[in-house]
Order: sequence, then C-alpha cells, then structure tokens
Amino acid sequence: MIIPVPIIRFMDDSLGNISKHALLPQEQVEKRSNIHFITSSPHATPMELTKGVQECLDAAAKDGVRTWDCKYNKEVVLIPFDLSKAGNNPMQAEESSQAGVACNFFCRTCTAGGTKVFKENVDGYKTLFKPGTLRTPSGTIAQIKKQVEEAQNSGGKGKVKTCVSETGMSNKAIQLIIETLITKRRQYQGGRQVPAAQEAVIQEQPAQDLQDLLGDHTLEECMNPLLHAAGFDVHQDTPTGILHTILLGVVKYFWGKPCTIFEAQLESVSLRGLGEVVLPAAYICKYQGSLIGKHFKALAQVMPVVIHGLFLEELVKAWLAIG
Ligand SMILES: [Zn+2]
Repeated sequence: MIIPVPIIRFMDDSLGNISKHALLPQEQVEKRSNIHFITSSPHATPMELTKGVQECLDAAAKDGVRTWDCKYNKEVVLIPFDLSKAGNNPMQAEESSQAGVACNFFCRTCTAGGTKVFKENVDGYKTLFKPGTLRTPSGTIAQIKKQVEEAQNSGGKGKVKTCVSETGMSNKAIQLIIETLITKRRQYQGGRQVPAAQEAVIQEQPAQDLQDLLGDHTLEECMNPLLHAAGFDVHQDTPTGILHTILLGVVKYFWGKPCTIFEAQLESVSLRGLGEVVLPAAYICKYQGSLIGKHFKALAQVMPVVIHGLFLEELVKAWLAIG
C-alpha cells in the first residue's frame, strides 16, 4: 500500500530553525508528534539549508519509505511531497527568488506592481487590487540567468539593479556569484572606456570567471533549489502569512498613538460575542508600539465602536473596512 505524505515546511531565519509538519486535521496539526525539527545552522544560509533538505525529500520520494502501518496492520510505502512552504513574508520572498515587498513588483505570486510614481497615481493604485500575470519557476530561472549575464557586462551593477527593479526578481542563492562577476569585470576595465576590439577580449574573461565560480556545477544547480522542485510551484505554493500581512502589516501600521479618552473608551467597551478576546486597555495604550498579533486582532474588531464619535467619520470607516 502506498500512502502520499504531504509536508508543509516552515522556515524562519530569525530563529535559525527549519521544521516541518504534515497536513493534518486542525486538532492534529499542533501536536508535538506531528511537528519535526529538521535543521539549524548559524553559518549556512536558508537556501543552502533548503538545498540539503530538498535532496533528502527528493530521495525519499523517489525510493519511498517502507514502514509498518498499525492502523491497516500491514507494511506501507510512504511517499513524501511538498504541499506548501509556510513562513513570514521576507522568508517566502527569498524562497521564491523575489526581492521582497519593498521593491516595485512586490508580489511573489504575480507581476502586480510598478514604479513608485505609477503605484501612487490613481490609475496605478487601482491596478494593485487586481492580480497580475502569474509568475512561473521557468520564467524566474530565465530572469536569474539574464541577471548573471548582465553582471558580466560593462556597468553590470546598474544593469542587474535595473533587472531587479523591472521584474522584482532576485536570487540570494547566487548573489555571491553576481557580486564577484561585477567586481572582476570592473577590475578588467579599470574604470575607463575601452575600444570595441578590446571590449570583446574583456568580454571573454568574465565567462571564464563564471565557469571557475561554478566549478563542476551548472548555473541552475547553484540557483534556488525550490525553483526545480518536482510538482511544486514556489510562486503559488507559498500561501500568504495572514499574521504578518494583515495583523502585523495593515492593522499594525494603521494603529496610532492612543489618547486618554480612547483608553477610557477601550476600557469600557463590551467584549460580549467576541469569544476569548482579552483587551487590557491600560497595557495596550502604554505599550502601543510593542503589541502582538492577538492585540491587533482584538483591536481590529472593536475599533469602529471604540472610536465612534471620537474621531472623523473617515477614520471610523477605515477601521470598519479593516475589521
Ligand atoms: Zn500577486
């Protein structure tokens, strides 16, 4: 009997840990037995750790893992596969070879976005609420290859930067290769304009440098390993982290400095119908800059009632939209 085992890999570089757990009913997901620590390193980057884990997973999927199933009372073969990658936005952006939410094309799943000027004008702002063209691992691989090519050209640093700002794609796994190629190219040129004939000679050297840097590997082998994972699309299988995007994103940055009347209103608001919500008004107002997800979740639900009559109608409407 063959049993597929879906895996959700969670990675976080602030804690330096990678762990995984299988897709299970909610009451099972947080059980200790279903959460497995995989690896941690103060030296290796997240992508280097991912590469090792990916190789283990690929080998296990190829050969299967034979074990005894006590429920069916027979031998079974387990086939593990990646269902999705969990993590915060910066980590998921790195896993998708995307440059993060601060760049022009901020979405790791699609090409929504544009320049700062475009995003701030009325028509451009509207487009941010519509999905762009879906990104694909093959398109990302092609873009990364282009950046490596540009790094070998004159003015490589600017050209690579333009590629990143025009596409939002950036691959940390080969960042060192790109930086080394740019530095070496600059050294060959010596900061001066060279004749076309000499330029051709200079052009050959970076290609050799790239080969030396890659050694026995191909460029694709040195890239983000998740771009090549079978049956897994890193752009679509990295679901949005609601905690970091909504509560610690929109709600956190809309939340302002509370005043004394606000504290009194918050203290007296009824929490009936909100389940287990706890709203310590004095704490929230004193430490307004150090609140965590559960505080913002509760605030988003009660803010329209708390600030009604205290502030402008527009602010109440904004909190209604957020809540
Ligand atoms: Zn998108």
